[in-house]
Amino acid sequence: MTRRSRPFVALALLCVVPLAARAGDEVPRSTLTVSADFPGGSAEVQAMDAAGGVIQICPAVHEGRGWPCWWYLRVEGLTPGQPVTLKVAGNPRPFREKQVLSANWSQPQCAAISTDNETWSQTPKRERGADRIAVYRFEAPASRIWLASQPPFLPAHADALLERIASRTPGAERFVLAKTREGRLVPGIKLGGGVAEEPAPLAVWVQARQHAWESGGSWVSRGFIEWAAGDDPAAVQMRRIASIYVIPIMDVDNVTLGAGGKDAVPRDHNRDWSDQPVYPEVAAAQQRILDLDARGRLHVFVDLHNPGPGEPRPYFFGPLDLAKMPAPQQHNYARLLALTAESMREPLPMDSKYKFATYVKTEEERGRVSGTWVRNHTGDNVVAASLETAWDTPHSTQDGYQAVGRQLAQAVARYLAEAPWKAKPPTD
Ligand SMILES: [Zn+2]
Repeated sequence: MTRRSRPFVALALLCVVPLAARAGDEVPRSTLTVSADFPGGSAEVQAMDAAGGVIQICPAVHEGRGWPCWWYLRVEGLTPGQPVTLKVAGNPRPFREKQVLSANWSQPQCAAISTDNETWSQTPKRERGADRIAVYRFEAPASRIWLASQPPFLPAHADALLERIASRTPGAERFVLAKTREGRLVPGIKLGGGVAEEPAPLAVWVQARQHAWESGGSWVSRGFIEWAAGDDPAAVQMRRIASIYVIPIMDVDNVTLGAGGKDAVPRDHNRDWSDQPVYPEVAAAQQRILDLDARGRLHVFVDLHNPGPGEPRPYFFGPLDLAKMPAPQQHNYARLLALTAESMREPLPMDSKYKFATYVKTEEERGRVSGTWVRNHTGDNVVAASLETAWDTPHSTQDGYQAVGRQLAQAVARYLAEAPWKAKPPTD
């Protein structure tokens, strides 16, 4: 069972500005207000010193809705230029039975900061305070600011992106993948697919945000979509030979709630790839993937994630049994990785080796991870991997993430253009 807790905590403190007021004047006062009462918002205020510009928060716990590591709040009533100290602690309450999340999942080197809730920059690097508290100090750039653990990417952003791309890209089609458990729509877009006289033989599936807190994955998907829909001759060629399906947000419910999603009850979204999925969007993705594979079209599946704190560069999680796969299949995995590493150099250079999710302990659980499910249910010609894009670096920004997505799309385009469905293993 899940329990819906209040999606926000707002706290306003009044502070009397120490100005000499003439008799009869209204006493000038300033109010510092912190709130997270909006889609995706998440913060519990633990302490505040309005006069000193000090705010201490932790991510909200939504019991049963995953790790409390995502935070996103609005601060109003600042004086531009005033020093602000944002302290971020772990939430000490369990997010599910007897499980409390370590604070470092919510303490990036730099916090995301915005004056318009659209364009995000980074604060100076955090300092380490006492009791595992991260301290971010900066000057208020405006009277009203937004702060977050990463640049937010919400369903409204997905809708606007897909609308814009579909309206200007010939052949692009928006579609609804599914309706979530809570009745929200999960939108996606199909790019390319060739033309009626020459339908595209290949297909690619890219999805993000099975884990709601990993907003960086959605920014990567945006970079992917924008390049794949663009005028670069390689992108035009990819749209001619392939249908490209992209879902910017899978777990729309937890993203909207501002919950972390990871390790949710009854199931982590990325452990739901079984024969009986709990989440309708997983079931719908599985069905579309099976249909594409049945027609021999699917060749690349990429699930977009953010990894653990401190990871310096993006990397692929690959199949644990890679070394035991038939040679042509190994060749395909090696080729997609090589092309991605070649393409993804700046500002976030790709790791040139696959990593393996060895922390998944049982074969049964591993089978319920998206990439494994896809490998177990599709042909040997399909390369299925998760891209883990580092979120804890100075380049883990809107621009940095979109560069990663663009570079991934360039690598996939080259991979498909090489006709991997005919690829032969190396002869040496
Ligand atoms: Zn993840």
